[in-house]
Amino acid sequence: MFPEFTLRYARLPGRFYERFDPVPVPAPRLVAFNRALAEQLGFDLADVDEARAAEWFAGNVVPAGAEPLAQAYAGHQFGHFNPRLGDGRAVLLGEVTDRDGRLRDIQLKGAGMTPFSRGADGRAPLGPVLREYLVSEAMYRLGVPTTRALAAVTTGERVFRRVPEPGAVLTRVASSHLRVGTFQYFAARDDLEAIRTLADLAIERHYPALQGLEGGERYTALLEAVAERQAALVAKWMGLGFIHGVMNTDNCTISGETIDYGPCAFMEAHDPAMVFSSIDEQGRYAYRNQPWLAQWNLARLAETLIPLIDDDRQRAIEQATEVIKRYEPRYEAEWLAVMREKLGLAREEAGDRELVEAFLEAMHAGRADFTLAFRRLSEAVEEGEAVEEDASALLALFESDGALRTWLPRWRERLAREEASPLAIAARMEAVNPLYIPRNHQVERAIAAAAEHDDFGPFEALAEVLAEPFTEQPGREEYAQPAPPTERVFRTFC
Ligand code: AMP
Ligand code: MG
Ligand code: MG
Repeated sequence: MFPEFTLRYARLPGRFYERFDPVPVPAPRLVAFNRALAEQLGFDLADVDEARAAEWFAGNVVPAGAEPLAQAYAGHQFGHFNPRLGDGRAVLLGEVTDRDGRLRDIQLKGAGMTPFSRGADGRAPLGPVLREYLVSEAMYRLGVPTTRALAAVTTGERVFRRVPEPGAVLTRVASSHLRVGTFQYFAARDDLEAIRTLADLAIERHYPALQGLEGGERYTALLEAVAERQAALVAKWMGLGFIHGVMNTDNCTISGETIDYGPCAFMEAHDPAMVFSSIDEQGRYAYRNQPWLAQWNLARLAETLIPLIDDDRQRAIEQATEVIKRYEPRYEAEWLAVMREKLGLAREEAGDRELVEAFLEAMHAGRADFTLAFRRLSEAVEEGEAVEEDASALLALFESDGALRTWLPRWRERLAREEASPLAIAARMEAVNPLYIPRNHQVERAIAAAAEHDDFGPFEALAEVLAEPFTEQPGREEYAQPAPPTERVFRTFC
């Protein structure tokens, strides 16, 4: 059933990883399996035997051809550098070639103590496993580059966090697990040869168009390409009100995929300073800081590439600095492109940025739900007899709607200069402004039912809703609603 493995990472020199077999668990049980993704990865689904699959995805049985390993990496965690993090609870089984011919990593997260565990237990509680499963798959359906979730198993063991919880293992699929922190690991050891190997691997897997470049140009181009992907990625997060929560350099991928769904969350009432993560006491990774934290992470990547860019260190620094500076206008352009689409604007006009900002400010002032405000805006494309007629659902989201009432005519005036009909504008807005996102309280409900009552019904129902985020699903109105006051989530834990 398992597709054939390509051992790309396992064939790198030994100092890139520690060979490590997952530690078996007492009672593996398959609780989630992503058939569509499995098919895309080339699994033969004709003979899926659940018990067998549970053994594989728990790490009890290593599939034929895999050579499990824990990857070495370093990282800046909340600004502080740790030269040796590494996979403390994850193992890479190997890479498989998907139906599109792309290599994809298959990793078991929560697979036991590795040489990088630093005293921690190497395990994952069911709650965070289900959260990553739900949110990463939702992000994929929302059109955001992301790692995917292939399977979740419970282990029959308890893991101890704030309270004892059921243990679980997540099978994560990524276009690679190369991180800024992987480069930092070797930079901290002055291992230039390893950095070159990594950079070349990154180009091969993620930026094949750069393969013809040589010398320093090759590595400046790589830096630029990663910066482009990160700019586009964070702009998408911002357009969805997504807060990653732990934008450490070890959680910043070279591929430009979102990785490591820990204390992540989606904003409800719009607030640019919003922070959820219980471990982010200074608000470093607040919603509005995310674009600049990505740039900070890219600057750390740039530092590791300096010796490859030019033998003249000063010249290399200047070139890398130019690339890092260009991230800013690039991000601004990506963000504006995302926001234009959300407001139904296909043309580009000079005042658009201001128009977007004024809407966001009105949302902030009115404490309006970020997701629903954009969604209901599409109903307000045309002005009826009174503003209330078409905009009533939108207006109802705002605690105070003065700013919005001033803004709406401005926006409609701008829409009048679009070529498309109002109906077409509304339709294209609905295609980019989701109705359903993984609302924190819904995710918590699904987790509580599974972890406390072994009831996976709410998890499955939520996963089903999130598979079609842009399509109104009759009978599922409550999934589109913000948390009732008693269920509002203010802090998230990883
Ligand atoms: P994260 O916060 O998930 O990005 O993880 C940061 C580092 O801590 C990585 O090196 C992880 O492998 C490690 N880590 C997190 N949780 C555990 C755990 N339960 N056991 C061992 N290592 C862990
Ligand atoms: Mg080794
Ligand atoms: Mg991590």
